[in-house]
Amino acid sequence: REAGRAEVAPVVKADAYGLGLGPVARRLWSEGARRFFTARLSEGVALRAALGPARPAAICVLDGCTDDDAPHMVAHELTPVLNSLPQVREWTAHARTLGRTLSGVLHVDTGLNRLGLRPEEARALSQTSDGLRGVELEVVMSHLACADPEVAAMDVEQAARFEAITALFPQARTSLGASAGLFLGPRFRGQVVRPGIALYGGGPFQMPDSRLRPVATLDAPILQVRSVAPGESVGYGAAYRAERALRVAVVGLGYADGVLRASERPRYGWFAGAKRAVLGRISMDLIALDVTGCEAWPGARVELFGPNLPVDEAAADAGTIAFELLSNVAPRVQRVHLGAQG
Ligand SMILES: *Cc1c(COP(=O)(O)O)cnc(C)c1O
Repeated sequence: REAGRAEVAPVVKADAYGLGLGPVARRLWSEGARRFFTARLSEGVALRAALGPARPAAICVLDGCTDDDAPHMVAHELTPVLNSLPQVREWTAHARTLGRTLSGVLHVDTGLNRLGLRPEEARALSQTSDGLRGVELEVVMSHLACADPEVAAMDVEQAARFEAITALFPQARTSLGASAGLFLGPRFRGQVVRPGIALYGGGPFQMPDSRLRPVATLDAPILQVRSVAPGESVGYGAAYRAERALRVAVVGLGYADGVLRASERPRYGWFAGAKRAVLGRISMDLIALDVTGCEAWPGARVELFGPNLPVDEAAADAGTIAFELLSNVAPRVQRVHLGAQG
């Protein structure tokens, strides 16, 4: 709804931000998505297999394509995002070798200085008569540097550069906005938007956003509930010492599940209607939660993020961003997809 008339082309890199590529992509197809973006060639190959012949989506690979990749791109009907003049030359040469037209997306860097042709390179390419011969240019894209809720001066500069470049490639559709650009308005979207995090319940501006529903819940069972006396310590390194009598729930979640260690900040889990503090360090496969004063029992589940504890808030508590929190959830954590499509 927020995308307006722009086509929504979901970004499903990093295993759909940790949520599970196949089920997520099939569900997005059933919601109308017909173009997807992955980061790596291997992700594009996996996505093609997960969608199968019944769902012939365009799959664009953000890394682009090198010499060795081109045959795999063709074999799996993937569309490279061409990020440099050498990549453009590689892909056009491959098309001529095969004697057929290949689809491509052109990425122009408008100020982020990450991937993409420089604007002057794109301009020169547009003026070279056979610069894109053999390639059907489907989309010209760029990526915004900032993700602020207000339009930043840099967003405007990037949009202006982007408009000047896309005018040189009238045959292609335009794509500028990721999640943040999508929410900034039409000028920052282009005709195709590429949301990632916003599809997975993370706010476009790295904070909870009431326009988005939480779609992912991480929860884990309480394994044991114990009483801790004043003066006793909890967990590895005796890093937490109880000042008063506590009830502590030991929860089955730890490093190997993707809980990040490098946080100095307090963390929380949601249990019995409130945010409750994680006590001390993560002790390998387990964390300890302060459940003093509420009824807790083995088997009850603690929410680490989800409808009660927004993923952006949980990420901020852990000193990181939603992308990292989601995509770090390890394979050991079972994924359950409600409403999954075959
Ligand atoms: C990751 C990525 C996106 C999606 O970004 P979100 O902030 O998650 O919406 C879009 N475009 C490009 C080029 C990306 O690398």
